Amino acid sequence: MRSRPIIAIDGPAGAGKSTIARKIAAALNFVYIDTGAMYRALTLRLVRSKTDPSDVGAVRTILQAVRIGFDPSGKIFLDGEDVSGTLRTAEVNGMVSTVAGLPVVREYMQKLQREIGKEGGVVLDGRDIGSAVFPDAECKFYLDASLEERARRRMNDSKEQLFVNLEAIQQDIARRDAADSQREHSPLVRAEDAHYIDTTGMGPGMVVETMLEYIDQRSVR
Ligand code: C5P
Repeated sequence: MRSRPIIAIDGPAGAGKSTIARKIAAALNFVYIDTGAMYRALTLRLVRSKTDPSDVGAVRTILQAVRIGFDPSGKIFLDGEDVSGTLRTAEVNGMVSTVAGLPVVREYMQKLQREIGKEGGVVLDGRDIGSAVFPDAECKFYLDASLEERARRRMNDSKEQLFVNLEAIQQDIARRDAADSQREHSPLVRAEDAHYIDTTGMGPGMVVETMLEYIDQRSVR
């Protein structure tokens, strides 16, 4: 029995999960785990070694040696190097859903995530947290928004705003959503007991407030 609760936040790409999850974790004094960053860090490792993700044997060998972890401030480390600022490149975006679709990768990441979160007092965001990683999480959310709004948010977040176009972002998000929802192993699904919030037209403050109210109603803090 864990002494503190687990908050699971799932949903499609660009739904604002990481911004919201970070704020919820700060409000509750919980640790925030960005599981998408874990898949991105592994993808970066494959990009750097020019490993083809369809070569499952090579991916398995990398998984045996790679070290992926967080520090208390939420920075993500790949083999000891802080890669927090290098995980959102077009190259990583283009490959991450293929890497995340490999059963060997999912098993590795899910085990690591269960290990990191097992004591509770954590907020995890991703695609399969409430459905597969922690189906017994005390509080589950599924955050959604229209594709147009999700693409617009991603564009506003981008540091190179002037060099990216909205349509390209929309296509990238739609492609990842399709891959993430259609894969066989722990696809993106809305857990039956997840609290669904359509955040289209809502600012982050309002989403956080709605979620904290729900958490309070369930008396899990
Ligand atoms: O959340 P983010 O967009 O950074 O996630 C990047 C990718 O990692 C997703 O498109 C998905 O393919 C994969 N992912 C996953 N399961 C998770 C978190 C992310 O498959 N729990």
